[in-house]
Order: sequence, then structure tokens, then C-alpha cells
Amino acid sequence: MTSPTNSRVDIKSLAGDLRSGHRAALARAITLVESRRGDHQAAARELVQALLPHTGKAIRVGITGSPGVGKSTTIDAFGMFLIEHGHKVAVLAVDPSSARSGGSILGDKTRMARLAVSEHGYIRPSPSSGTLGGVAAKTREAMLLCEAAGFDVILVETVGIGQSETAVCDMTDSFLALMLPGAGDELQGIKKGLVELADMIAINKADGDNVKRANRAAAEYRSALHILQPRSEHWRPPVVTYSALTGAGIAELWQKILDHRSTMTASGEFAARRREQQVRWMWSILEQRTMARLRSDASVRAKVKKIEAEVAAGRITPALGAEEITEMLK
Ligand code: GDP
Repeated sequence: MTSPTNSRVDIKSLAGDLRSGHRAALARAITLVESRRGDHQAAARELVQALLPHTGKAIRVGITGSPGVGKSTTIDAFGMFLIEHGHKVAVLAVDPSSARSGGSILGDKTRMARLAVSEHGYIRPSPSSGTLGGVAAKTREAMLLCEAAGFDVILVETVGIGQSETAVCDMTDSFLALMLPGAGDELQGIKKGLVELADMIAINKADGDNVKRANRAAAEYRSALHILQPRSEHWRPPVVTYSALTGAGIAELWQKILDHRSTMTASGEFAARRREQQVRWMWSILEQRTMARLRSDASVRAKVKKIEAEVAAGRITPALGAEEITEMLK
């Protein structure tokens, strides 16, 4: 196999290898998608387009929660449960902070010890470069590649910080918010608007002494959800308790995801959500590409800087500045 750093990529053979389940081919394909090189990006577009007929069949689940809530433990336990039930599970992450910190805090294979070594599991850390929009775009394409490679459940993880949650919600069918039994935590979630995004709430660590507190927290969430407008008129987000450590409640959690899927499918919202996502993805890619063009050429960059300075100094209006920059894109 040729390395993705070679300028010519044999798309046909890469697609074939990926489809027949070669993990190295999948890893190479995702590297191609993540590359910033123009020729790699062109090859990646061709590859994803070629594989498109083999995508879209997986169950796409978004998972969010604050650090320490138990995301890695949950994904490991949940992933292994799914594998035992005949599924193939890919884990992706959206963590734009990894671009700044130089390392991904999500998707690290050592955090999911069993899943990392399972032949039916695949873990890919968050792309570590670019803006949230860029990271999300690459994760979406990685998701399509995983689907083409035969993974039928895709778990997309993110940490509980505003915009990245919306990005993950936008690329998945069911969005799961993990919470702790602790007091106060529940209200935080509601304040951030997270509860309004979530298709279900799962309270982890419902084991040992925590069971009572977890049940109490669940009751509080349920009553809080009553006063919020649900995302769908056909689906009221359920609140479940479980333990990633003991596995108690994991099967019920999966059942809720399946229930959500069948309810959404029956009401037509499943297909509608996927269609809207496709169109939003296109606009988001266009936005990325426009910005990339403005940054790619040194003379354009210089002109943009000059316009920026003119706007900052109040010599030209922001509207005129934007107009002049738009002219350069023609
Ligand atoms: P993350 O930061 O959200 O990925 O959280 P981790 O999965 O790393 O878990 C944080 C801590 O919570 C670790 O010490 C885990 O062992 C612990 N933990 C995770 N799930 C459970 C659970 O179901 N019950 C209990 N008691 N502890 C848990």
C-alpha cells in the first residue's frame, strides 16, 4: 500500500481495501480526509463520493458529558455490549481544544481498554487541527468512511462545551447527555441548553451508595424536562440511570436508542433530520473552503489584512470591507 503522503492516491484500490474491512486502509483513508494538502483533499473528496452508496446505514449516536462523568468507561462498556450483540462499533471524537493543547483528550485508545483491542471495534481520536467547523467536517467524513468499512454503530464523543455539542448533535441521529448523580449538576445542564439538544439523558455511576442519589437526580431531570419544549412532538427525552462500571442499565440504554430510532423513523423525522444535516454540512464545507481560499494565497492574505486595518481604523465600513473581500473570491 502506498502512504497517504504520496501525491497520487489509488482511490479505487483504497476504496476496495476499505470496503473489505482492512483496518489499515480505513486508517489511511481517514488520514487522507484529515490532510490539509490540496491534492489529498481532492483525493479524499473522490474517495468519499465513491463510497457514498455504502454509507448512511449505521446508527449514529452522539455522546456528551463533562470530564469525569464516565464517557470513556461508558463507551468501553457500551461498545463491548454492542459487539457481544453482533455489532461493529466505531468511536470518533470532536475535540477542537486538541488543536491548542497539542493532544486529544478524547478518543485516546488507552481510555477504552477493551474496545481498543477488539477486532470489531475501531477508535479514532479527534482530528487535531483547525477550527471547530474544520474538526467537525473531518469527523463527519471519517464517519462515512467507517460506515463504508462495515461499522454499523458509530459513537461520536465530545466534552460538554457548547458549540462542539451542537456540532456532534448535527451529525448524529440520537444525542445522549451523560450526567452525574451529584446535586447541582442537573441544573447546569439545563442552563446550558444541553438538555434541549439531548434525545435522552443518562445518569451514570448508579451503583453502590450512589443508586439512591442517581434515582433522585433522574426524578429531578424528569420534572425539569416537563417544563421544556421537546425537540420533537413525538419523542419526550427519557431519563435513565445506569452504571458503566457494573454494566447495569446498559442494555436498557441501548433499547432507548432503538426506540428513539423507530419512533423518529415512523414519524418521518429520522429522514428529515438526515436531509437537513446533509444540507447544513454542505454549507459548512463551503464556509471552510471560502475561508481556506482567503488564507491560501499570500497576496490575497495581504489584501485582506489591509482591508481589515482600514475597517479597524474606521476608514471604511465593515460592509464595504466585506464587499471588497467578496470581490476577491470571484
Ligand atoms: P470521562 O472523563 O468522562 O471519560 O470519564 P472516565 O470514563 O475517565 O471516568 C472518570 C472516573 O469515573 C473514573 O475513575 C472511572 O473509573 C469512574 N467511573 C466511570 N463510570 C463509573 C461508574 O459507572 N461507576 C462508578 N462508581 N465509577 C465510574
